[in-house]
Amino acid sequence: QGGPEKHQFQAEVAELLNLMIHSVYSETDVFLRELVSNASDACDKVRYEAIARPELLAGDERLAIRIKPDEAARTLTIADNGIGMDRQELIDNLGTLARSGTKAFLKGLKDAKDGLGLIGQFGVGFYAAFMVADRIEVTSRRASSAEAWTWTSASGAGFEVSPATEAQAARVARGTEIVLHLKEDAVRYLQPYELERIVRTYSDHVLFPIELIDDKGEARQVNAASALWQRSKSEVTSEEYTQAYRSLAMAFDEPALTLHYKVEGRQSYAVLLFVPSTPPFDLTDPARKGRVKLYVRRVYITDDAELLPAYLRFVRGVVDSEDLPLNLSREMLQNNPQVRQIRNGLVGRVISELESVASKDAEAFGKIWETFGSILKEGLYEDGERRAQLLGLARFASTAGDKPRSIKEYVADLKPNQTEIYYLVGDSLDRLKSNPKLEAAKARGVEVLLLTDPVDAFWTTLPQEFEGKPLKSLSQGEVDFGLIPLVDEKKPEDATVDAEDDASVLAAAKDVLGDAVADVKASTRLTDSASCLVASAQGRDRELERLLERQNR
Ligand code: ADP
Ligand code: MG
Repeated sequence: QGGPEKHQFQAEVAELLNLMIHSVYSETDVFLRELVSNASDACDKVRYEAIARPELLAGDERLAIRIKPDEAARTLTIADNGIGMDRQELIDNLGTLARSGTKAFLKGLKDAKDGLGLIGQFGVGFYAAFMVADRIEVTSRRASSAEAWTWTSASGAGFEVSPATEAQAARVARGTEIVLHLKEDAVRYLQPYELERIVRTYSDHVLFPIELIDDKGEARQVNAASALWQRSKSEVTSEEYTQAYRSLAMAFDEPALTLHYKVEGRQSYAVLLFVPSTPPFDLTDPARKGRVKLYVRRVYITDDAELLPAYLRFVRGVVDSEDLPLNLSREMLQNNPQVRQIRNGLVGRVISELESVASKDAEAFGKIWETFGSILKEGLYEDGERRAQLLGLARFASTAGDKPRSIKEYVADLKPNQTEIYYLVGDSLDRLKSNPKLEAAKARGVEVLLLTDPVDAFWTTLPQEFEGKPLKSLSQGEVDFGLIPLVDEKKPEDATVDAEDDASVLAAAKDVLGDAVADVKASTRLTDSASCLVASAQGRDRELERLLERQNR
């Protein structure tokens, strides 16, 4: 047998590692949260796989995460008896960017001014360990495998994989052991109180015991390891909720909204959901994946059960069912009627909770809308059943002032004879405000909603209405303000228009423009400007075309 196999990191990983190693970022504590979270995931996985194959746990049933500092060797060891990794998994998982979010992170890092601050907000997974260690050894044994393998990397310059030494293999009967050779400026992570503080801050609600091993080899559990969502609301403090949110969502902010309730009856389940106050990093990920974790009787099953629709993917948390079978495969979850029922209940509850914040605390809701409104609006396109409710939640810029307006407010202020809700879609508020298409509306004091999110171009292609009033674009088809009285009666715009004059002007314009336009028509839409371009009622919205053009460029 030859020596250890050498491997290169994938280019993106090398880039990330370079950042980690030379980071001057002060909040390096996050590395422990990441490693503990991976260990916890690994314990979840082995417990899940053991439902079908109990022999995977045989002889070593108590799943736990162990943290052991060694002052003399200046190493910190994090070990778990979870699922473990085989040789190929070590190479794939610790050599490439496994998580989709990390790519988004790297991109964000390049765009942001304070790039390194993002490490804290986001977390970069396993590779965060290179902030505190200049050499890392990972020894892992996949559950029920005869072999253990060791992955080693020094200073992030490639990595080596070799069969574990006898001593290493003996220590790792199942799962993974990570030995960090700490950098000189990271020796504080050898202090038990420092480690305990970090665990309590970030990982208190990890469901498996996290044990700190002292220099005599004795273990002491330092996390609460309780399923907080099983407790009753009155027993949980707001600090505990914040901590649970941070540990569940791997976040650092405060939750903007917390939903904690139990459903009992034909189906029983506990729910603990959070709306973050800052956008999670994977929010703009094209996969639009939700992150609500499904547990069945305290056993983690998956975060891939699509428990909430994509337009609520910013919501984080847990659903813990009492009734679902444990051996339900992840694929079967898609079509399971009980899961569908839970799903329905959840969407309804999240939306009604948002409605209740909107009516009780406009300021708090305003912040939520500012952060996640553009995501929620995807539901106007996708969720026909809840379109009216979502439209009720929506807040828009408008010509009626600087404050965001709800459609309800709009409808309450309708002008006499006004039967439609008017809007204009565009890419900037300033450009929209000076759009000549607003003139006729302005002359009648009619409010126009100004829509500038890219998503606005999509949901407005579907017929939308609120309380029987259809939404109508000012840049598409006929807009007839006819019966709505002018604000300034002295300036009726069509009083001096003579039909014959009109016809000759139109003919001349058509002549000049030729095939560039479909038609030239007289309109009551303008008051000060002489002309404007509009799309036909059947054609595509002019502003939508512009947006699509921009996106395809
Ligand atoms: P993420 O946890 O988001 O997938 P990480 O960078 O933290 O990303 O980890 C990358 C992958 O490495 C994990 O998805 C997992 O497959 C594997 N991994 C990391 N730590 C462990 C561990 N302790 N046990 C088993 N697998 C692990
Ligand atoms: Mg991870």
